[in-house]
Amino acid sequence: MSNIPKTMKALVAYSKDDYRLELDYPTPQCGPDDIIIKTEACGVCAGDVKCSHGAAMFWGDELQPSWVKAPFIPGHEFFGRVAEVGENVKDYKVGDRIIADQIVPCGECRFCKTGHYWMCQPHNIFGFQNANNGGMAALNMPLIELVLAMKIL
Ligand SMILES: [Zn+2]
Ligand SMILES: [Zn+2]
Repeated sequence: MSNIPKTMKALVAYSKDDYRLELDYPTPQCGPDDIIIKTEACGVCAGDVKCSHGAAMFWGDELQPSWVKAPFIPGHEFFGRVAEVGENVKDYKVGDRIIADQIVPCGECRFCKTGHYWMCQPHNIFGFQNANNGGMAALNMPLIELVLAMKIL
C-alpha cells in the first residue's frame, strides 16, 4: 500500500542541451529492498553545473564514452523523509529523515567486495544515470540496499 502520487515535479536531463522541468514525471516504484524519499532539499554541486554545461567528462566526446545515461534526474546531495519502504527494509520507517551516500555501489567489483565501495569501478552516482535518479525531484529514486544511508535529525 502506498499513498505516493503517480507523478511528481522533477528536473529531467534528456541530453546535454535539453534539461526540462517536468510537472508530471512518473514517480519511482518501490521494490522490496528500496526506500522512496520525499526530497526536502538538494544541493547543486559543481559537477551538476559542469554536466548541465555539457562537459565531455559527463557526456563523452571522441576520446571518451558518455558516463551519464539520459534521461536522468540530477542531484546527488539530497536529504528528505522516508515516504515508502520495501518489505525487506527493516531499519527505516516512513517519516524518518534520511541522507544517503552519493555513490551507488555495484556490489560486484573488487573494491566493493573488499569493503572499499567508494572506489567502485563503475562508480555510479545518484543523479547521473537513469537507473539512479537524483534529488531534484519531489520524490527520490529508490535507495537500493547497497547504498550507505543514515538517519539524521
Ligand atoms: Zn558533487
Ligand atoms: Zn563496485
